[in-house]
Amino acid sequence: MDQLTWRARAKINLGLDVLRKRPDGYHDLRMVMQTIDLYDEIALRATEPGVDVIRGGTEGSGAAIRLCVQGGEGLVPADSHNLAYRAAALLMDEFAIRRGLDIMLMKRIPVAAGLAGGSTDAAAVLRGVNQLFNIGLDERELMERGVRIGADVPYCIMGGTALAEGIGERLTRLPQAPRAYVLLAKPPIQVSTKFVYSNLRLGDEDAQSIQHPDIDAQVQAIREGDLYRMAELMGNVLETVTIPAFPVIGEIREQMMRCGAVNAMMSGSGPTVFGLFDDPEKAREAYTEFSKGELAGEVYLTEFYTAETVA
Ligand code: ATP
Repeated sequence: MDQLTWRARAKINLGLDVLRKRPDGYHDLRMVMQTIDLYDEIALRATEPGVDVIRGGTEGSGAAIRLCVQGGEGLVPADSHNLAYRAAALLMDEFAIRRGLDIMLMKRIPVAAGLAGGSTDAAAVLRGVNQLFNIGLDERELMERGVRIGADVPYCIMGGTALAEGIGERLTRLPQAPRAYVLLAKPPIQVSTKFVYSNLRLGDEDAQSIQHPDIDAQVQAIREGDLYRMAELMGNVLETVTIPAFPVIGEIREQMMRCGAVNAMMSGSGPTVFGLFDDPEKAREAYTEFSKGELAGEVYLTEFYTAETVA
């Protein structure tokens, strides 16, 4: 088999808590992660190294990798800075793969949105390259390599519903969260992850003002299959930075609630807001309302995706 196509699915955070800043500059997190059925498409093709293959490898990479990106509004690099490229180079170098690789990446997941678009592409390429070249790594071994590309990559390899701790790489698989319809609305603003974390105040003097979500209780609600309790316990401490700085994020949240969402929250470091709906009709009406409105530049209607079928 010389060719493979994959769906690389996005994630949302149902809960996101930051415990502390570590001496190495990273933050210790506790997050409830959920795969959603919004995806980039990735096609991988093994090629014979030859004149038609650009020797695109950098930084010691000897792999002949060619990457073509469609979509992504010019925001996605088509070179060795792309996480999909880095994932392929990492495995092909380590296992001295002598053949070349063409990667076709069709971006559908909004970029720099808090939906782990780059990480999920990297995860799909790790799995795909492993299969295409019969490398034979198991999921745990792929996850060990994925964390070198990004903290969310191991989770994206695992998929489904999970508790992520540490910098996001310590994972506990949870039972599939109860079924929900997901409306995503991304306002037309850029929010840098660095800005969000450097403005997050966790010190004692601010302890009163920060509402930490009860991640353990949310995990329990998922174990009990209780959608309403799970949704009630949604919380993201990063909103304490982003909502004051970018009020449109709060406005989208409020409008989602008015449209009948069970609850709504920002995903990751934003700026995408998601609303959970228990009824597909209500979700569709809310989608129409947001598509007509001014608040969000990009609107998507999707649902939770189950781990068993994650590509
Ligand atoms: P996270 O939720 O993990 O913080 P995100 O959804 O906010 O991620 P991404 O869409 O992964 O952010 O993109 C962040 C930046 O990474 C982009 O601005 C882009 O320059 C770079 N990037 C590298 N590879 C990719 C890729 N395959 N897809 C999207 N962005 C990529």
